[in-house]
Amino acid sequence: MNKDFDYIIVGAGSAGCTLANRLSADPDCRVLLLEAGPRDWNPFIHMPAGLSKLVNFKSINWNYYTEPQAQLNNRKLYWPRGRVLGGSSSINAMCYARGHRSDYDDWQRLGNPGWGWSDVLPYFRRSQHQARGESELHGTGGPLAVSDLMHVNPLSEVFIQAAEQAGFARNRDFNGPAQRGFGLYQVTQRDGRRCSSAAAYLKPVRQRRNLVVRTRAQMLKLLIRGDGQVQGVRYRRRGITRSMHARREVLLCAGAINSPQLLMLSGVGPADMLRRAGIEVLLDQPSIGTNLQDHLDICTLTRCSQPVTYDQLNELKVGLQYFLHHTGEGTSNIAEAGGFLVSGLDRDDRPDVQMHFVPALLDDHGRNRLPGDGYTLHACPLRPESRGHIEIRSADPRQPPAIHANYLDEPHDLEMMLACVRLSREVLNQPAFKPFRGHEILPGEEFTDRAGLIKFIRAKAETIYHPVGTCRMGSDESAVVDPQLRVRGLSGLRVIDASIMPTLVGGNTNAPVIMIAEKAADLILGKTEADTVPRAVESEAA
Ligand SMILES: Cc1cc2nc3c(=O)[nH]c(=O)nc-3n(C[C@H](O)[C@H](O)[C@H](O)COP(=O)(O)OP(=O)(O)OC[C@H]3O[C@@H](n4cnc5c(N)ncnc54)[C@H](O)[C@@H]3O)c2cc1C
Repeated sequence: MNKDFDYIIVGAGSAGCTLANRLSADPDCRVLLLEAGPRDWNPFIHMPAGLSKLVNFKSINWNYYTEPQAQLNNRKLYWPRGRVLGGSSSINAMCYARGHRSDYDDWQRLGNPGWGWSDVLPYFRRSQHQARGESELHGTGGPLAVSDLMHVNPLSEVFIQAAEQAGFARNRDFNGPAQRGFGLYQVTQRDGRRCSSAAAYLKPVRQRRNLVVRTRAQMLKLLIRGDGQVQGVRYRRRGITRSMHARREVLLCAGAINSPQLLMLSGVGPADMLRRAGIEVLLDQPSIGTNLQDHLDICTLTRCSQPVTYDQLNELKVGLQYFLHHTGEGTSNIAEAGGFLVSGLDRDDRPDVQMHFVPALLDDHGRNRLPGDGYTLHACPLRPESRGHIEIRSADPRQPPAIHANYLDEPHDLEMMLACVRLSREVLNQPAFKPFRGHEILPGEEFTDRAGLIKFIRAKAETIYHPVGTCRMGSDESAVVDPQLRVRGLSGLRVIDASIMPTLVGGNTNAPVIMIAEKAADLILGKTEADTVPRAVESEAA
């Protein structure tokens, strides 16, 4: 075994790239970053509007499907996940949202000291370069560029006006003092280019001699000694299987599906499940893979009576303008505007529904191209009560694990989905849309009663790509990792990615995962946030 590295990071996604940067800042610390996918050469990754094309590139995507969903007509839902440098941050929609401050206070209350809002805010700030400048809630000088969109479709502005007409407030900053309201998203972009975690954290430090990045290197299993000490990893690259030793720690950053899968492949997980899959049990840990949570989403599609949408763009013209000048429609993240609102159904008064407005017809993740012009309003409940799990079915690392999302398992989640459709129509039916409004394509004007809308939801709801929670952080015995993100029952191993979230945050998940990795870097290096980041002034958020 080659004993050359202090830390081995598995997965170069949102978390992995962040850690690779922070840990290799010390030239005496040798870091190996393993990524199953290729380098991020595909130009559609970097051109924000290229997002709509990425669905066609199977080689940079794990292309997962859930198991048949009992509450969704037994459909298997498509779950794209990035398999490339930058991970899912290389294929995501770039909306910058942190969730609500109370989400983190919830984490703290659930037994995670050090993860309350006032503890995590400094790490959000440290990660960030806010183009609008520094404030008590926003940082500058960090690697992750957060900017205003360079190009906004006129319909996105119409959408915000419509929301105002429906009685909702305009909000210029969803990560400002109040999350509630409607407005344009800020995006993770620098000068009109996607700022993935690879662009933000990895590219600037690729020349460091103490950082080795291996792409197309798929980890197969952990190397674990009899006493529970994790010694390293086994991985396959170009058909050759190698073992690599970590002098200090292995850091699993493979995401909410693959991190639990890799633990299970290594004999760490629910004993019965492992035996059924033909895997020798090293540590019976029944919680691994459980607590799966995701944002289920429902789209309302409306025909647009004017050719102002992104549906029928001259792609050649847009591409040329983008590649020559980095301006124009090519810089749009497509999901330009949105909102956070209170349905009234939840137990508290923080926003419990999020919307993303797309000035184009978007069906089935963009895989079903509908003819003509139209606009799409996504709406998702933010804190689902249903819980799913990841199940390993084979000892073969090439076989995907089974994803039991269990959407709408809890009746409250269906009520929330119905509220999402009602609220979407309420906004879309305002006068601001009058000059553009054609007929409603989905659900369709004939769907008005509860039974019809439930039928529609079961037929059409899809993920909005935020699975988390499968290696839950906590102080209790059944938590997978402790608040330092160390895997219970083993030494020399941490999990650092979306899987550690105890509960799903009320917003998009890229920035929260980067925050988790920023904080984890300090935990690993034995630093406190006071050593590395200026503490921001407290501020009220609604
Ligand atoms: C289509 C889409 C749109 C989204 N839109 C937004 C958005 O607009 N805003 C937002 O905030 N969030 C968005 N998200 C969610 C956000 O991008 C993710 O929550 C976040 O990137 C997850 O980070 P992660 O580090 O946990 O996992 P990932 O970023 O997925 O990283 C995991 C990495 O591990 C690698 N890996 C897995 N298994 C192995 C193995 N065995 N060996 C080696 N490497 C391995 C993977 O290839 C991948 O690169 C979106 C996600 C998707 C898929």
